[in-house]
Amino acid sequence: MSSETSTDRRPLPDGLHPDTLAVRTGLAPSQYGENSEALYLTSCFVQPDAATSARRFASEEDGYTYSRTSNPSVTAFEYRLAALEGAEAAIATASGMSAILLMGMGLLKSGDHVICSRSMFGSTLKLFGSEFAKFGVETTFVSQTDVAEWRAAVRPNTRLLFAETPTNPLTEVCDIAALADIAHGAGALLAVDNCFATPILQRPISLGADLVIHSGTKFLDGQGRVMAGAICGSRKLVDEVFAPLIRTAGMVLAPFNAWVVHKGLETLAVRVKAQSANALELARWLESHPAVDRVFYPGLPSHPQHALAMAQQGGVGGAVIAFAVKGEGIEQARARAFHVIDSTRVCSIATNLGDVKTLICHPASTSHGRLSEAQRQAAGVVQGLIRLAVGLEHVPDIQADLARGLDSCASVG
Ligand SMILES: *Cc1c(COP(=O)(O)O)cnc(C)c1O
Repeated sequence: MSSETSTDRRPLPDGLHPDTLAVRTGLAPSQYGENSEALYLTSCFVQPDAATSARRFASEEDGYTYSRTSNPSVTAFEYRLAALEGAEAAIATASGMSAILLMGMGLLKSGDHVICSRSMFGSTLKLFGSEFAKFGVETTFVSQTDVAEWRAAVRPNTRLLFAETPTNPLTEVCDIAALADIAHGAGALLAVDNCFATPILQRPISLGADLVIHSGTKFLDGQGRVMAGAICGSRKLVDEVFAPLIRTAGMVLAPFNAWVVHKGLETLAVRVKAQSANALELARWLESHPAVDRVFYPGLPSHPQHALAMAQQGGVGGAVIAFAVKGEGIEQARARAFHVIDSTRVCSIATNLGDVKTLICHPASTSHGRLSEAQRQAAGVVQGLIRLAVGLEHVPDIQADLARGLDSCASVG
C-alpha cells in the first residue's frame, strides 16, 4: 500500500526522533477519530463499484481489497516498524520464520548460493540447510565471528549473506558493517536478523545491511501474546518482490496480531532499555556466583566481542543472557542446570524471549534438542547451559529465584 493511504489530516513533520515515531507512526484515524489505532478485523473490503475493484486488483489504484494482499492494521504496523528501523519499507508476515521464508523465496532461485552464520537460529539453519537445498539453493555455513571466513566463502553465484547478532543462545556478535562490505563487493545482499537487539539498540540498515528480519513474536510484541514477523528493506524490493509474492504465497500477518504488535512498538524502547539494564545487573551477579562456570552476555567485559557489541548496540548488551553451571561431565552438568531451572518460582520455564516476564530455558534439550550431542558441543550449547530472557520484574526477586537453585547446586548429581 503506498503512502497515499496514510495521509493524515496533519501529516507528521520530518526529522522526528525514533521514540516519537514509535508512538505516532501509523495510518490516519477513521472518520471516528479514534486515538488508539483501530483494529481492522476483516478479511475483505467492500468496493464502491466494479471498475474501481478492477483497478485495485490490477494495482493501478490504491485501496484495500482482500487481507491476503493488504489490511490497514497490517499496513500501520509496517509503517511503524520501517520508521523505527530507518528502512524505506517493511512487509509483515505470519511469523519470524515466514519472514525468512518470504525473503528466500523472493531473492533466490535454483543455482544460487547463500552464506549464513553457523550460529543462526535453529529453524533458520534447517530452512537453509535442508528445505532450500531441496530447491537447488546451496548454503555455506561459516563462523559467526570470523569475517575472513565469510569473505572466503563468496562465490560468483552468491546472492545473499544472512547474519544474526547477537545470536541465540550464546549472544555471539558479528560485525554488520564488515559483512555489508563483503556482500556488496560480491554483488550480493546482506540480511540481518535483528530479533535480539531490536531497532532500539541496533539499526542494521544504518550499518550497511540491505534487509532486516524480525520475529515480531519476541520484543516487538513484548508481552508474549502473538506470532508475527517482518522484512524491512528498500521500497523497490518490498513493492516489486515481496508484496507480489506474499499475495501469491499467503504467509501474511493476521490483522489482530498486527494490531497487537503495532501497539507493542509504542513501548519497545522503554521495555528494551529497562530489560537490558536488568540483564546487565543479573549477568554481573551470575558471573560472581561460585556455581556458575561462565556467563555469555555482550554487556560484560568478559564477552569475546564486548567492544564490537558496545559500538554496534549503542553501549547496551540486550536482555538475553546465557550461563553455564559447573559440573563434572555431561550428566552432572545437565542435572544441575535442570535443578536451577526447577528451583525457580518466579521465572517462567518457557522457550521464548522478549517477554516482560523473565523466561528460563535449557537450550540443549529445547531449541537445540534436535541436534546430536557432538553438534551441540561444537555449537557450544553444553548441557550445563541455561538461557535467561530477562523481563521487567524487580531484579533482586529474579536473583533470589536463581540463587535458590545455584546455592544448592553442589549437592546435585
Ligand atoms: C524466534 C526467532 C525467529 C523465528 O521467529 P518466529 O516468530 O518464532 O517464527 C527467528 N530468529 C530469531 C533470532 C528468533 O529468536
